[in-house]
Amino acid sequence: MTYDTIRETADAALMPTYGRFSVALEQGKSATVRDAEGREYIDFGSGIGVNSLGYADPEWAAAVAEQAGRLQHISNLYYNETQSLFAQEVCRATGMGRVFLCNSGAEANECAVKLARKYSEDKYGPDRYAVVTMNNSFHGRTIATLEATGQDAFHAHFLPFTGGFRYVQPGDVPALELALEGACAVMLECVQGEGGVKPLDFEYLRQVRRLCTEKDVLLVVDEVQTGVGRTGRFLACEHAGIRPDVVTLAKGLGGGLPIGACLCTEELGGVMSAGMHGSTFGGNPVVCAGGRVVLSQVTAPGFLEEVARKGDRLRSRLEKMPGVRSVRGLGLMLGVELDGISGREAAEKCVSAGLLVLTAKSLMRLLPPLTITDEELDRGLSILEKVLTDCGGKEE
Ligand SMILES: *Cc1c(COP(=O)(O)O)cnc(C)c1O
Repeated sequence: MTYDTIRETADAALMPTYGRFSVALEQGKSATVRDAEGREYIDFGSGIGVNSLGYADPEWAAAVAEQAGRLQHISNLYYNETQSLFAQEVCRATGMGRVFLCNSGAEANECAVKLARKYSEDKYGPDRYAVVTMNNSFHGRTIATLEATGQDAFHAHFLPFTGGFRYVQPGDVPALELALEGACAVMLECVQGEGGVKPLDFEYLRQVRRLCTEKDVLLVVDEVQTGVGRTGRFLACEHAGIRPDVVTLAKGLGGGLPIGACLCTEELGGVMSAGMHGSTFGGNPVVCAGGRVVLSQVTAPGFLEEVARKGDRLRSRLEKMPGVRSVRGLGLMLGVELDGISGREAAEKCVSAGLLVLTAKSLMRLLPPLTITDEELDRGLSILEKVLTDCGGKEE
């Protein structure tokens, strides 16, 4: 099909919930992808931080195909070796005790909220149910995770919510202390992704940890975007040296297949018992087969150091470009503040020039595959530099 036919077919059949770019992608390798007309793009977005090993990683594709050809799904009524091993490996990689497997970040966060409420109810009765989240956070699109998301813009049109969420300003410790009264959990992102790639202050994160421990409130760290090596550590919270009670993962964990994981400490492992939570597709063997390859590559010696090195290289090149006001973020999760042009406008121009980038608020957001080569990184940077130089020229 040509691009026009693909677009018309989609626009007639899909709900128009996305602001799409004018391109239809067909085939990729590493961080390079081709469209329906055979044009090539360097991908600095990874399908929103999902394709952690890039397109068509041979080991990943073989493992997924092998599992699909053998046993694609069994439900959680039975055991399966691929799921067992993946669960063990994801617990090891994060240093957590137990995991619940689901299909998305929102679902992983839903599980975290249920777990925190159940934990608190068991110990303190039913009145201690509030979940404290941060202003400018993003936790998902379901009714509860939308409510957890501390941005009014996302809340419009979908009221009433279920209740039981409170918001605090990151960095404001006294406000947090107040909010913790009657709370069962604090949920936060170490780097707010959708909120504009804003890292939370490490000292603040340590204070949150201290207060949560003092008040026996669970600290849930939403690592859906930051986790699985994205920031140069397996979990972003390792940068601040904090140990969460609950961690949620999704985006990059499956290497391109839908997955979510809610991990907790060994002590919390039995809070939810049989029948209290579930997911038909959760822990699907094909998805777990892909996830096992992601985990084995990301935890291999030297891999995270490479992510950090490429992140530094990307950042230092970006900081020298015309029209770049500032760069923030960690590892290969970067937000670029531009002068005189919105992230969206810049992203449109990049697509036309052969580079895929993301946006977050008014920023340009970059989440390249963790395995991107230096050569692809440099090609992408050259395209970006040309786009930004051309923008600067027209502006005067
Ligand atoms: C993307 C994201 C989510 C939602 O994940 P879905 O898989 O789209 O449900 C939740 N939290 C954070 C931090 C995210 O970046």
